[in-house]
Order: sequence, then structure tokens, then C-alpha cells
Amino acid sequence: MLKTSAKRLSVRAICLAAVTFVTVAVTAGVAWAAYTDNMYPTQYEQTACFSESGSDGQVSCQTDNSALTYYPDESGSNALEAVDRTVVHRVLADQFGPTDLTVSYDSTPSYSGNAETDIIFEESSTGLSSSAAGMTFCNNAADGLRCDQQYIRIRGGGYYTSGVTCHETGHAVGLLHGSSASPRKSNSDERLGCMETPTDHFEGLEANNIELINNTY
Ligand SMILES: [Zn+2]
Repeated sequence: MLKTSAKRLSVRAICLAAVTFVTVAVTAGVAWAAYTDNMYPTQYEQTACFSESGSDGQVSCQTDNSALTYYPDESGSNALEAVDRTVVHRVLADQFGPTDLTVSYDSTPSYSGNAETDIIFEESSTGLSSSAAGMTFCNNAADGLRCDQQYIRIRGGGYYTSGVTCHETGHAVGLLHGSSASPRKSNSDERLGCMETPTDHFEGLEANNIELINNTY
């Protein structure tokens, strides 16, 4: 992260404008979060949201509004097996449904325009480092803060657990690891719920994550 300081400086300058735009939401998050602020942006993660074709290892977007639509890919080479689609539906309903996000399954997903399906779930290992179970990346940035469409890619062979699905969906709405939280926490801190790494296979959102989601959306 230190190697391209000139580039980072310019990105940060762009980001400051975006951050100003959401001062109220960010301030509210800090004021209400009892434990730590792990909602993008924080002082440790403020790279502007941009469109990617694969993960750069950083989470730098919120989703673009509180109406969260999702689609687990059902056909083609990145399709989820039926059992994995069931996990996705259950995690979205049980973990994210009770938050202030309005979660809905989009059976006719949109991949273009400015109101795309917010999260596309794929089963694939393409672009994943050998140590990673999954990744999240913004395919279409709405602005410097928010993403119109995020892709979640989780490898096959038993990795589509509720914990990993919760973790990657958390990234898609802007939740960060402990090392990017303010104040910083251990990545394995239990109070980060499913956002801890390594991710427990059955972990869900904990109070701190829910509070941040509800203060943001
Ligand atoms: Zn992660």
C-alpha cells in the first residue's frame, strides 16, 4: 500500500470530495457504533470507489442505496449449485433482511444501465488467491463512494458457507476487516462477527455491524 504514494495521494484527493458528501452518515456511524467503525470509508480505508474486473484486495465502496437486490447465478460456468443458492437466500434473509436494508431476490437480473442488480453471486475461483475462499469487487461504480453492482465470487468445493457468504455480502455493503476499522481491531476479533478473518463457517452479523448498516442506509 505504500509503494505508489503519488498515485495514492491523487486518489485520496478525489476521495475527500466524496467523503464530504456523506459527512452526516459517517459522523452518525462514529457516534453510534459502540465498538468500532468498520464501515467504508474510515481513516484507514478511503480509496475512492471505482469499477474493477476483479478484486484489488481492498473494499472501497458502499452499495448505492438501501434497496439491496441480489442474484445467485443460476446458469453458465459460474452458476451456484442449488444447495449454495439456498445458503445465499438464507443469509440474505436471516442476516441482512432484519437490518434497515430492504433485501430482495432479483429473478431477472440487470447488468446494464444505472439500476443494476446490486449483488451478483458467482461460484468460481477465477482471480482468487490460493488462501482466499471468496472475494467481492465493484463492477460498476456509481460515484466515488457507492457501487451500482458488486460481484461476489466464492470458490466451489464446500466454501459456500453461511459465514463466508455473510462476510462477502458484508463487504458488498461496505463493511471492512478489523485492520481497516477505526479504531483498529484485530482481524480475528470476535465482535466483528462474520467480518472477522479467518471467517467462521457459521458466523453471522454481530451488533456492531448491524448498527453501522442501519446508520448508513
Ligand atoms: Zn474479507
